[in-house]
Amino acid sequence: MSEQGYDHATVERRWQEAWDEADVYRTPDDVDDPTYVLGMYPYPSGKLHMGHVRNYTITDAYARYRRMRGDDVLHPMGWDAFGLPAENAAKDRDTNPRDWTVDCIETMRGQMESMGFGYDWDREITTCTPDYYQWNQWLFSRFHEEGLVERRDADVNWCPHCETVLADEQVEGEAELCWRCDTPVEQRELEQWFLRITEYADELLEAIDDLEGWPNSVRQMQRNWIGRQDGAELEFSVEGYGSVEAFTTRVDTIFGATFFALAPDHPISGELAEEDEDVRHFVEHEADPEGDEPNGVETGLTATNPVTGEEIPVYVADFVLSDVGTGALMAVPGHDERDHAFAEKMGVDIEPVIAPEPDDWDGETIPDAPDVSEAAYTDDGVLVNSGEYSGLESETARERLTADIESAETATQYQLRDWGISRQRYWGTPIPVVHCEDCGSVVVPEEDLPVELPEFINTTGNPLDAAEEWKQTTCPDCGGPAERETDTMDTFVDSSWYFLRYVSPDLEDAPFDRERANDWMPVDQYVGGIEHAVMHLLYSRFFTKVLADHEGLAHREPFTNLLAQGMVQLEGEKMSKSKGNTVSPQRIVEEYGADTARLFMMQAAQPERDFDWSEEGVRSTYAFLGRLQGMVEEYVDSTPDGDDDAIASYVDSEIDATVAIASEKYDELTFNRALRETQELVRTLRQYADFTEPHAETYERGLSAVVRLLAPVAPHLAESLYEQLGDETEDEFVVDAEWPTANVDHEYVRKRRKLVENTREDVRHIVDVAGIEDPQRIDVVVAPDWKYDALEIAVESDADNLIGELMGESHIREQGDAAASYGQDLQAEREALSRTLDPDEEYAALESAAWLIEREFDASVRVVGADEVDESVLKNAEPGRPAIEIED
Ligand SMILES: [Zn+2]
Ligand SMILES: [Zn+2]
Repeated sequence: MSEQGYDHATVERRWQEAWDEADVYRTPDDVDDPTYVLGMYPYPSGKLHMGHVRNYTITDAYARYRRMRGDDVLHPMGWDAFGLPAENAAKDRDTNPRDWTVDCIETMRGQMESMGFGYDWDREITTCTPDYYQWNQWLFSRFHEEGLVERRDADVNWCPHCETVLADEQVEGEAELCWRCDTPVEQRELEQWFLRITEYADELLEAIDDLEGWPNSVRQMQRNWIGRQDGAELEFSVEGYGSVEAFTTRVDTIFGATFFALAPDHPISGELAEEDEDVRHFVEHEADPEGDEPNGVETGLTATNPVTGEEIPVYVADFVLSDVGTGALMAVPGHDERDHAFAEKMGVDIEPVIAPEPDDWDGETIPDAPDVSEAAYTDDGVLVNSGEYSGLESETARERLTADIESAETATQYQLRDWGISRQRYWGTPIPVVHCEDCGSVVVPEEDLPVELPEFINTTGNPLDAAEEWKQTTCPDCGGPAERETDTMDTFVDSSWYFLRYVSPDLEDAPFDRERANDWMPVDQYVGGIEHAVMHLLYSRFFTKVLADHEGLAHREPFTNLLAQGMVQLEGEKMSKSKGNTVSPQRIVEEYGADTARLFMMQAAQPERDFDWSEEGVRSTYAFLGRLQGMVEEYVDSTPDGDDDAIASYVDSEIDATVAIASEKYDELTFNRALRETQELVRTLRQYADFTEPHAETYERGLSAVVRLLAPVAPHLAESLYEQLGDETEDEFVVDAEWPTANVDHEYVRKRRKLVENTREDVRHIVDVAGIEDPQRIDVVVAPDWKYDALEIAVESDADNLIGELMGESHIREQGDAAASYGQDLQAEREALSRTLDPDEEYAALESAAWLIEREFDASVRVVGADEVDESVLKNAEPGRPAIEIED
């Protein structure tokens, strides 16, 4: 075998079998509140891709870390096994979705095992099994009982290629394309089942503030998605059509309303389109709600402003959305950017009615109106040109106007819509409803659940519709003939509560064990892709709240901490099967081993960041692991016999520093930082052994720390090395080993490392500048005590005259010119000053690090106290920056 390699295949297979045999990742049902670490379960599409590997390495590393810290850990895995791709794949391959899905799961489970992910497979869940989806049906009927299910006609997004309804979230971009197949989406009207998530809009919005363990970006995306606006509804009278309701958040600007705008699909727009060719053309061909600039068409109608009585023109405009607000609005170009753009384009008046509040405003004088001809003034301010309301502040004016306008009422609007869960597809949970001519839609009673899927029929439409025998049933209410509902549920229903099923995956009489869920939930650390920021993460919150209200769940939020991991890219591009730029995890595992793949990924970047795959990086990671194995073998083969000297003490303090910093980084899930520290320690140990005969205890402590610090990320090799280093008293597996501890002050570590680094740099600099070819002796001279005192005073002091203050101290004043000169230096750098170690600590730190300089320059190094040298040398010695004297 090459020097740089190791037999990863044997090592990994051996430990996977050993873990399996010892059942080390099992979480017994009776543990108390385990740390719940969860990766978003995958859709079984065939093979693991690098995104999966990264996602699950993050959770696995964190789960292993928590386990070594002594926690009980729950780290389960399952399959988001329903969904359209399986149905399409089955058609392509002339099989059925179930067989195809089961095959994919087998493959992917095997890959996960080969990656060494430590899951409790006894808790595995698969959503396409009746054992699981019966609880989707049960939950549907519970939601129904609680009034949270509705059936109604709805315009739906229809993908003609997939032949299915799509949720708004599944329609992408300005071109409104199907998220799966990029076909332009059409509108259709169908009877649909809805879950009434809007009932929870306020709580879903307000509770976001408390999700402190979530990334701000995700929180903001959810806020925007819910899109609550507080404002007023009021009526404008439109000529020939009577009162038309409009919604505004800025009723304080009503005096500046210079036109009225209707959505293209507002009923009045529809009527107008039938008689007015221009309106019809606009509505059918030009309106583009997603466009960059607002478009519209004049209707020739006028609307009456309820406050001023003024008649203003009515437009049909594509920036007015019928599903937001009322589909009609008063437009105020002076104070709304979009209205402003439209007014400029169409030549409508732009009038200022809000002025910025002057700094010295007395609260009464009416300020000058701002110039809004070029741009709208959109902030709150003081009303101008607004009759009796002029001089009021915006907020007061809103209250007064809402009270004074007869038709006005405070109102809240949401962007959030109820969740349409109907899908006209086979591979999902059948919606447990039968349609009876006499009784209407009847929910299937609990004792008749599950409603199982019939055998798959390969048809262009909905296979459930074609399953005649399955479809014909009897009504649970009247016993008469009835037909089953043929829609299945959006698979986001499955994933809205799967994290609860892991708690009690085999429970037969409820979706989850309430008592255990109350103890084990919420998920402590959830990890997955940012693409789930809205749908999955919002629906899961919704389900959790409903279960808290109606099923005795003691938690209202499912995920305490959320990490949205970045992408693994190839040459700056997202890896994509269709573009052919992917790296196969399987090949990497075969060639370099799972530990290498895991370690490379985790050290490449912080988990939230995107990073580029690099084959070279993989190779050097592999070489690192091989070298580490070599170091341990060498140590075990012949234990060294060095002294417990200054060098050993340096190495010892580096071990402490590494353990302290790496632990902190593991806590924060910044694995890359933890691993960088660990690799740095490996380098220090190697240099130590190269330089001198190491002190055995210190060296072994270092190796043992490295092995444990690497164990969460490179668990297989860590087991091997742990075994080689191990003594009988230790745990059998590194998985269960205790995390190394170090009791050091980070600030101390930082100062010590900076001192050593600065000193080494200074030596390099002098050798370089003075052109010293072969330095023989290097003296490192520590500054005199009084300089440390002076620095301390300078850091503390906020006096203008620092030098005066320093000279107030007799032992500093005694130093004469040297004190004056150092005082000036301190004064000059005052902003940047910070404390250093004490003189004794500096001396000791430099002594123990002297070998590094000795090794680098092949010269003898002395650390010298201030009392041993002349004034002329001391001049250059400062706290944190010793003077350097070199003899060649
Ligand atoms: Zn499609
Ligand atoms: Zn009936």
